[in-house]
Amino acid sequence: MPSSAILCPPGFLDRLEAFSQLGSTGDGGVDRVEASMANGEARRALARRMDELGYQVRIDPVGNMFGLMPLAEQFAGQELPWVFAGSHIDSQPKGGRLDGAYGVIAAVEAGAALKERLRGRPVAANLAVVAWTGEEGARFQPSVLGSSVHAGLLPAETALARKDGNGVSLAQALDAIGFRGTDHAPKPAAYVELHVECADALEKSGRRLGVFDRWWGAHKIELMFIGATAHTGPTPMAERKDALLAAAEVITGLRRLADAAPPGTLHTSVGRLEVLPNSPNVVPDRAKLFMEIRSVDPDVMADAHARLMGLIPHAAAIARVAHRIVREEIRPPGAFAPSLRSLAREQAAALDVEPLGLDTIAAHDAVPMAIVCPAVVLAVPSRDGLCHSPREWTEPADLELGAAWLGAVLERLVTEGPQHG
Ligand SMILES: [Zn+2]
Repeated sequence: MPSSAILCPPGFLDRLEAFSQLGSTGDGGVDRVEASMANGEARRALARRMDELGYQVRIDPVGNMFGLMPLAEQFAGQELPWVFAGSHIDSQPKGGRLDGAYGVIAAVEAGAALKERLRGRPVAANLAVVAWTGEEGARFQPSVLGSSVHAGLLPAETALARKDGNGVSLAQALDAIGFRGTDHAPKPAAYVELHVECADALEKSGRRLGVFDRWWGAHKIELMFIGATAHTGPTPMAERKDALLAAAEVITGLRRLADAAPPGTLHTSVGRLEVLPNSPNVVPDRAKLFMEIRSVDPDVMADAHARLMGLIPHAAAIARVAHRIVREEIRPPGAFAPSLRSLAREQAAALDVEPLGLDTIAAHDAVPMAIVCPAVVLAVPSRDGLCHSPREWTEPADLELGAAWLGAVLERLVTEGPQHG
């Protein structure tokens, strides 16, 4: 076990702080929405730093940024697998400075420190650090866009054609900041992501490190109710075809499904509602709902979905409207690689910390990666569980501990091989 002496890379907190000035909103947060000017500035700073540390910078067609560190150069001619570490540097419009960026900066700095430590020692893998495009889904949907493309779950052309609210495609937006690349990147043999928890289980337990064991699944459904416009004054109540009334029935019904389930087993939401014509004195003829059902149990998800499908015709009948499912998308729940989870626990023990096992309800780039290779997410506490907020905060000592932990995990993977365990 080589790693009890592994420390946080030198200057790490200063680098992280300097990076959070790019796209700063002045209140501790950042606005680095994907392919915005601030995001482009952050990408350029990241590319410069990768280059300075000896990484070969590669940009793929959807703007994913890779820093390749071929540690196995001494085995010329031998194809060694690639161990990946990274996260994302895009943010929500009023996002926090740690969500994503923490994992990317830690991977870049820890990878360079690892290269120094490995000088003259045999290795079993190369290292690649990565900043994935469009993890947040704030501007281009779906979320975890770039990692899904690299995992082969989403065609690059589909991702590039996705449009923001102003009709600008990802391709156009990446062109505008000069980050629509042509490079090919290797495929990962293992993927490690360091991330702030974005929930409060660590804080509540008093533990400083967490390992994500499982991810929750999400079933996202866009539903349209179609009624008829009419004057809200004279039209008799019994003759109205009110699309918004049907939407209201579904909104409260979907909430009741979660309230009736054991706590912490089912989350449901309607996060967005589009109403037309959206005039105070016109009965709405269109209401579009953006709904979500989330659980770690596929049976709970399926049951909630079946109940929702039962609610919809009932709501439509009450409001005398038609309905249509516009789009459905399922991300099944799953478990991260047991081999990587136990390796992460061993390396935490070497740092004298016992990590807490966690579920992630939010998506991370490690979820699409987990479909194609062993993957794991290492977590440090989020104060008050806050994420997507300028008030995101993790104790500096915990940020350093997490970066040291990532370095220790990567060292094991690179020296022993990604199929470890
Ligand atoms: Zn994130």
